[in-house]
Amino acid sequence: MFNTPHLLDQLVSLTGIRDLELLESSLLKTLNGFILPSVLTLYKVSSRGEIRSQLVFGPERCTVIRENFQVQPELMQAFREHRASEQGSLQLALADCILSVMTVMESRSSTTYLVIGSQQSLREEDNRMIGGMLQIYRNFCQLLQESQTDSLTGLANRKTFDECFSRVYELQPLDEEECAVAVEQRKPHQQTTYWIAMIDIDHFKSVNDRFGHLYGDEVLILLAQLLKNALRNDDLVFRFGGEEFVLMIRCQDRAEAAGLLERLRASVEEQVIPQVGHITISMGATEMMRNTFAGTLLDYADKALYYSKQNGRNRLTFFEDMESMGLATRETAPSENLDFF
Ligand code: GH3
Ligand code: MG
Ligand code: MG
Repeated sequence: MFNTPHLLDQLVSLTGIRDLELLESSLLKTLNGFILPSVLTLYKVSSRGEIRSQLVFGPERCTVIRENFQVQPELMQAFREHRASEQGSLQLALADCILSVMTVMESRSSTTYLVIGSQQSLREEDNRMIGGMLQIYRNFCQLLQESQTDSLTGLANRKTFDECFSRVYELQPLDEEECAVAVEQRKPHQQTTYWIAMIDIDHFKSVNDRFGHLYGDEVLILLAQLLKNALRNDDLVFRFGGEEFVLMIRCQDRAEAAGLLERLRASVEEQVIPQVGHITISMGATEMMRNTFAGTLLDYADKALYYSKQNGRNRLTFFEDMESMGLATRETAPSENLDFF
């Protein structure tokens, strides 16, 4: 049933994708090319058996469903009992079709199931082929995840920042003209903006010098944990390398960003680290503006961080304040739309 050169082509395009979400759609597309099932869906199910999301394959495109799931009770039951993941795969004979349920991925908090609907049971060779394809998919996801993560702290790395940056841009407020149209059309107007903060540990070299590199590493892990715990759902944190971290935080206005960052600075200062004692961090922040390159915004945040370092450390500076004090100037913004990446 499977055509090998075609299969290889499909795998090449599958493994060419660098985005975990797109990869799921691509997996379904690849599978559909081979087995032409009547139903082809990925379900993300919480460890308590509740469905979190559903990715449904369609001839035009895949659709993500996040609420009002319509799922056969037998399938719900199978998810709740977690049967497919224990046995590798499971078949449910329903009135109008047979559902094959396979485990794609498993983590502590959720399991992703593949559900294939067909008129007849899948043949043994099809099952084997699908199993092999899922294994390639899993291995590839793991590689991708590792390439996006800093191994010491488990935070997203610098490379991932560039990818996230271009996506967050798409959520940024529209310019005034576009806003007027949005209001007219009664679309909800998104007020929130993102802010970038660059963080650098103060006198970190002396932590290494006094206590050794292993203690230094421990401090980096603890700080990463503290940053992760302090952030909300829409915020992002990256390790940029060495003892430098970057936050992308979603706030209504500058006062909210300043409040959050100040609380963070104070909580780092208060934290008692075994053996090491206390550390402090310096921060430089700026608003993420449309039509500004990632590199330029990082440069503004870095200038503000440098100002914090030069002026006593353990403090937060906004690039916007440096501008109003006449200490820095913004590059002139390009007027036309730019293709960022
Ligand atoms: P400042 O307040 O000006 O930022 O001073 P600093 O000592 O923090 O800055 P400096 O750039 O002089 O030193 C940074 C140090 O961070 C030097 C380097 O050995 C250490 N470092 C970088 N990456 C790691 C790491 O992964 N683990 C450990 N333990 N140390 C690291
Ligand atoms: Mg540094
Ligand atoms: Mg430092």
